[in-house]
Amino acid sequence: MSYRGRFAPSPTGHLHFGSLVAAVGSWLCARYAGGQWLLRVEDIDPPREMPGSAESILAALPAFGLVADAPALFQSQRMAAYDQAFEQLKAANQVFPCWCSRNDLAGGLHLDGACLAPPAADRTPAWRLRVPDIDIGFDDALQGRQTQNLRSTAGDFVIRRVEGYYAYQLACVVDDAFQGVTQVVRGNDLLDSTPRQIFLQQCLGLPTPTYLHLPLALDAGGRKLSKTERAHPVDPTHPMPALRRALAFLDLAVPSDIVEPGLALADALDRFAPESLPHCSERPAA
Ligand code: GLU
Repeated sequence: MSYRGRFAPSPTGHLHFGSLVAAVGSWLCARYAGGQWLLRVEDIDPPREMPGSAESILAALPAFGLVADAPALFQSQRMAAYDQAFEQLKAANQVFPCWCSRNDLAGGLHLDGACLAPPAADRTPAWRLRVPDIDIGFDDALQGRQTQNLRSTAGDFVIRRVEGYYAYQLACVVDDAFQGVTQVVRGNDLLDSTPRQIFLQQCLGLPTPTYLHLPLALDAGGRKLSKTERAHPVDPTHPMPALRRALAFLDLAVPSDIVEPGLALADALDRFAPESLPHCSERPAA
């Protein structure tokens, strides 16, 4: 099967350094493999979204030389597919409605395979996946072998929220399969979501792609940049400084005489091999 990669931003703000690194990293892996690079806008969490940011992110990418092979898929248009996956899990008795409040769970995980609170006719429930005591392992192409006990880490996790929105985990696996993604390249902040996604793929009979989690960028004070960087979007009208930093972060520093994004990416691709990406879980942004 030919390689298909993707970049899947959430429209919660403008493109920022961490998302640029994920976009560049996933683009390089796809182009290196001679495959396709796809886009997906993960707009299924309206309370967290910033109006106009999907358009802003999609317009910024080509300015950085990152051109996708197909129009972006919008998760807000994919409710019927998530409904279908949800019904499949329901029919297989793999989900249960849950009225538990945070208090009921005392801040801990839900581990009982059934709701602890009495059903409330006047309130919509969340829906949780029944998670057995199972170890999920996978070989991350950069971070190496990973194993997680799903029950003790995630418990019976929510796949449909009280407000009716589907959880990221469910939408992500349904759409990675729909888009035919063969390798997921993304930031290391999502490493611990991967076992949940692999388990959901198994429940739904979907293929499991390979995974490559890029190091997470730290600011000068050693804090995760992702926490504060929404305040520091990258500037698509003046793309070279941020693109240089993103490529240097991936150990692909661009010679100073290259001043155009397409040429910078082509130069980096010439020298690129996935196994030479930095093998660490986090590192300072230059
Ligand atoms: N939408 C997620 C984010 O922006 C990324 C999801 C993924 O790559 O699986 O953090």
